[in-house]
Amino acid sequence: MEYIITDRKPEKLFHFFEDISAIPRGSKNEKAISDYLVTFAKKRNLWVYQDTMHNIIIKKAGCNGGENAAPVMLQGHLDMVCEKRADTDHDFTSEGLHLHEKDGILTADGTTLGADNAVAIALMLTLLDDSALSHPPLECVFTTEEEIGLGGAKELDKSLITARTMINMDSEEEGVATVSCAGGVRIELIRPIQRKQEKGTLLVLDLTGLLGGHSGMDIQKERANANLLMARVLMNLLTKTDGMLVNVCGGSKDNAIPRECLASILYKDERQAQDASCTAQTLLNIIALELEGFEPGFSCKISIHPNETARVVSKEDTQAFLGAILLAPNGVQKRNINQHGFVVTSSNLGVIRTNDSTLHIVLSPRSSCSSLQEEIKERILLLARTFGFTVECSGEYPGWDFQEHSRIRTVFQKAYQKLFNRELRIEAIHAGLECGLFSDAIPGLDAIAVGPSIYNCHTPDESLPLDSFERFYQLMIAVLQNLAVISE
Ligand SMILES: [Zn+2]
Repeated sequence: MEYIITDRKPEKLFHFFEDISAIPRGSKNEKAISDYLVTFAKKRNLWVYQDTMHNIIIKKAGCNGGENAAPVMLQGHLDMVCEKRADTDHDFTSEGLHLHEKDGILTADGTTLGADNAVAIALMLTLLDDSALSHPPLECVFTTEEEIGLGGAKELDKSLITARTMINMDSEEEGVATVSCAGGVRIELIRPIQRKQEKGTLLVLDLTGLLGGHSGMDIQKERANANLLMARVLMNLLTKTDGMLVNVCGGSKDNAIPRECLASILYKDERQAQDASCTAQTLLNIIALELEGFEPGFSCKISIHPNETARVVSKEDTQAFLGAILLAPNGVQKRNINQHGFVVTSSNLGVIRTNDSTLHIVLSPRSSCSSLQEEIKERILLLARTFGFTVECSGEYPGWDFQEHSRIRTVFQKAYQKLFNRELRIEAIHAGLECGLFSDAIPGLDAIAVGPSIYNCHTPDESLPLDSFERFYQLMIAVLQNLAVISE
């Protein structure tokens, strides 16, 4: 193979990166890269395990003073997100990536680079290949289907891992270590309803223009929730006027903060609808003031449509629906004030919808603390029971709680300070990471997530600054050297 990166140290790190990039490895297409790792390990007489998901574990004994140290688990994922520009012709199932280096920045030609998470694979291969380094026994774990729901990490037999220290290398900012992530679950509340046909004037409310965002990563931004605002307006209207609910439709996903919500109410005569429009507008003006400076795009258009027929929802069902929405936990529920106030528990009222014969409310609660995850789940179940909804839970995954005392965190902080004369930033992310699944399955696991800087992940603009990758390698070598000599 002719390598394009030739002037970087250690040379092998970058050559392995290029070797990996030549193997197609989109999620669910990991067999080739997985088999490549088996061959790699066998050639070097290393212990290797491959499961039916194509997850891989390679173990290597401690070296150069690290023979008797406690084993350390290193971990990254084999799959990558396959995105390309509209004008790029690239077959991710059969073609390797076309890498480009310019001014020390590596990209791929019109496609994602897959540095997320090739940096982890290349780094582990470099360590496994090098007999001159000093390190404790290594248990290198390569997982599959990370990008589509942590599939490989969920299925992997964790009893094969003896290490109680884990270094995940799937963090994308140099100088930052992640030490906690959130678990989550999708909860759908469903209630069967009665409707009846009525004639009258329709009042339609069309709320749009909110900022929205990711229900985990953006929840601390206190963005307005379109579903909650709409329920507030509807509750106000239906308390003060004789309207009958016809439809509500807000939000598209459980894990996105809803930006839009559309609702319609039927009135027996047009004058009532006109009055209701004024009542709604008064409250909307108040809401606009509350949101001033926070939600610049907020808008709610009201329109009136006389001479319509519609199937209206019964009063009792409407009350249950709006009650459950307005009392549902939404937004930040708990922060860790000892750790810069990072979000521990949150909830997102992602979707509300009236169907012909059912009402639906979809929530996405998250927490890094498993008992608090249970607690918020219980609260939502109680809410559902109180308002006569049945519940469907799906896609649950565990969080990774912040540990007051962590040896691996201290080792990283010291090594980073010594190497770069700067303080390592410690962060928690309020979204899922593979560390959650491993921490949940392996009691007493001391884990950290680190990595070099990678920009624009999951897009064709993904890029890797090579000097950041070099520094990350130096940091990892220093940390492993320290772990080789300190006794537990
Ligand atoms: Zn990743």
